[in-house]
Amino acid sequence: MFKRSAIALALSLALFPALPQAVEIDKIELPEMGDSSGSLLTIAEEKELGEEFFRYLHSELSINQDAEIQEYIQTIGNRLATNSDTPGYPFHFFVVMENDINAFAGPGGYIGVNSGLILMTEAESELASVMAHEIAHVTQRHLYRGVEAQQRLSIPTMAATLAAIALGTQSPQMGQAALMAIQAGNVQFQIDFTRAHEEEADRVGMQTLSGSDYDPRSMPTFFERLQQSSRYYGKDIPEFLRTHPVTASRISDTRGRAETYPYKQYPDSLAYQLTRAKIRVLTDTNTTEVQKYFQTKLNQGTSEQRTVAQYGMGLVALAMQKYSDAEAIFQSLAKTYPNQVQYGAALARTALEARNYDVALDRYKKLIGQFPNKEAIKLEYAESLLKTGNANQAQKVLLALNPDTQRLPVYTELLAQVYGNLHQAAESHRYLAEHYYSTGHTPEAILQIRLAKNSKGLTPQLNAILNERLSFFVNKEKEAAKQ
Ligand SMILES: [Zn+2]
Repeated sequence: MFKRSAIALALSLALFPALPQAVEIDKIELPEMGDSSGSLLTIAEEKELGEEFFRYLHSELSINQDAEIQEYIQTIGNRLATNSDTPGYPFHFFVVMENDINAFAGPGGYIGVNSGLILMTEAESELASVMAHEIAHVTQRHLYRGVEAQQRLSIPTMAATLAAIALGTQSPQMGQAALMAIQAGNVQFQIDFTRAHEEEADRVGMQTLSGSDYDPRSMPTFFERLQQSSRYYGKDIPEFLRTHPVTASRISDTRGRAETYPYKQYPDSLAYQLTRAKIRVLTDTNTTEVQKYFQTKLNQGTSEQRTVAQYGMGLVALAMQKYSDAEAIFQSLAKTYPNQVQYGAALARTALEARNYDVALDRYKKLIGQFPNKEAIKLEYAESLLKTGNANQAQKVLLALNPDTQRLPVYTELLAQVYGNLHQAAESHRYLAEHYYSTGHTPEAILQIRLAKNSKGLTPQLNAILNERLSFFVNKEKEAAKQ
């Protein structure tokens, strides 16, 4: 926690382009610095702001909860971040399960990509080009240059303001909530995604893209597709185009720059295709349409495209609770491609959802042996352990997950169940509180902490933790109420 005055100071300094401390800056083209006294937004302050921003998004948008999709987007993001001009910066990539075409960069390196945009891409490099562009907005500090604060801001208001800027104010729910926060805070702000920022993000992003061995030509190609598609939208122009206007000169500049790179082929990873198939099923509003889509692909295309379509058909069957159909499809895929983790995972998932818990347990166990680094499988393994009454083992598996996976709200939800099954009510309420807090529901989090404090057999250590969390949550609520 840091004081309101600190964030106000940080914010006023953020009016001047600033760079995070303890970051390699030799490769960065330094913007005009307004202040050289070192009083920049510290890493810790930016981290807190980023977490607040991410929490705020959970209460406004449908953030992906599927660990396999999360692993995929973070992997692409990490590959790009490593080759960006601030490789040590802690980026967090995530998918927003919304059909609008959008991608955005928030404070603290939180970069979101909408499922609608992922489905609109036709090559993995196109997705990477959008992400590289957003990474550049972060490394070039564009977000902070767009904020003008007239008075002190609380962190929740700042987070809401930055969300409005990052996402654009046209987004229906987001616009309302953010505008209310901004009016209440008497803050003037402007959407300052200027042409200069866009060009800079394209230029820096393309260096990152090419340095990460993605196709530089995919950037202008995707911009062209965006521009063409925008003609069909009329007034409902995609959000991404509002915040990132694609002009003819921007496309030709990007095209010209891309052409300076030697031409070569950049094949998509199968993970890209399979992730898209999964997203298509998870975000579908018309199952028959999705089924038709995969059916068409089954009858045409390369053998790889047909395999992906089979996987899609299996996921549709699973979503429709046609377990024997799903089982048959995934059995066949897993047998033919035993080294492709997604097929085995889908087969285990089928057993889990069909409530064949022992079979599911067995399949997950084998998969973990074969793919020891796949976090998504461990998360589902924990789920099947819980279903078979093995809460102790589930607890061990959950606590050993990596921090990025533990960021998914499903983690604290499962942990709350684990402690519930172990008859440790206080711990169960505690993790449920964390679950509510991480999804932007602070009053519910406070209630859960109070329930935890009333539980029997409270150790002094746990009581101290609960008191600390209670005052933290209560302060957050006060801050949010103050605006
Ligand atoms: Zn942009």
